[in-house]
Amino acid sequence: MSRLVVVGSSNTDMVIQVPHLPGPGETVLGGRFTTAQGGKGGNQAVAAARAGGDVSLVACVGNDTFGEQALAGFAASGINTGYCVVDPQAPSGVAQIVVDAHGENSIAVAPGANACLLSRHIDAAGRLLEKATVVLLQLETPVTTVLAAARLAAGADAVVILNPAPAQLLPDELYPLINVITPNETETRLLTGIQVCDDASAATAADWLHLRGVDTVLITRGALGVFSSQHSSSAEPVRSARAGFKVEAVDTTAAGDVFNGCLAAALTEGQDLQQAIRFAQAAAALSVTTPGAQASAPSRTAIDDFLA
Ligand code: ATP
Repeated sequence: MSRLVVVGSSNTDMVIQVPHLPGPGETVLGGRFTTAQGGKGGNQAVAAARAGGDVSLVACVGNDTFGEQALAGFAASGINTGYCVVDPQAPSGVAQIVVDAHGENSIAVAPGANACLLSRHIDAAGRLLEKATVVLLQLETPVTTVLAAARLAAGADAVVILNPAPAQLLPDELYPLINVITPNETETRLLTGIQVCDDASAATAADWLHLRGVDTVLITRGALGVFSSQHSSSAEPVRSARAGFKVEAVDTTAAGDVFNGCLAAALTEGQDLQQAIRFAQAAAALSVTTPGAQASAPSRTAIDDFLA
């Protein structure tokens, strides 16, 4: 059976919609408040499950109402939560999100129990990771945990996807364990020092990542789409740029998460890279037309209809 394992964070998102994003020291009135389940791991797992994936999540929540709600939500989405951990002391992770009238956002995260997802929990999920077809990772849990998961997955010949978000520098030994890396422009700049502004600069940044051992680089560029570069030792990298689908954006929160979850789901079911990128772009484009993080992840039917 094809299986996707997502290792990552779960947060409760506290979202305020405002006329414009507050600057330093500014108070913006007139907001509307909602709570929702989020966190990059949870968002990507839910997006993948909605897209039809057979998904397991390895995450850590607190022993509190937010944690309970998160696990119940994952189970309701058909995600296997058998390897999720409940930390007895740490609170569940929370994120404060402000979204403006144009759908732009600003986010602050308190990781709480996400910081308690440790290498020993990865070891405990060893049987699950060893049977995975694709393992999808992000950087909202300790990087030592990410490294442990990548090692186990790479050792078992799973395809390892790293969405290097939120932006942070990576240990050198992580790169050769990654098959597909999916930074946005900000993350690309932090990792490589290269500002992506066109295909030529994207190619230079991709080469930087290829040199460190990553075969496939997908640089996501918001509404501009995705630059892809595939490297094999025998030939020049194969590059292409695929524009984003044109839609009316109302909330771009989690566009990247929907992209990554759906990319992983598509690769797990055997779509080739370009098909999988197109599928993930369609899902992400649909997601920005609806408010919310997990709530905005489209169903498989909606994605297929959009692409038909
Ligand atoms: P976020 O942090 O907002 O979740 P991100 O910065 O990780 O997202 P982006 O590059 O903004 O990731 O978006 C990922 C993909 O989603 C893009 O490559 C694109 O295909 C799609 N996408 C994002 N925004 C839009 C948009 N406004 N219109 C159409 N597609 C979009």
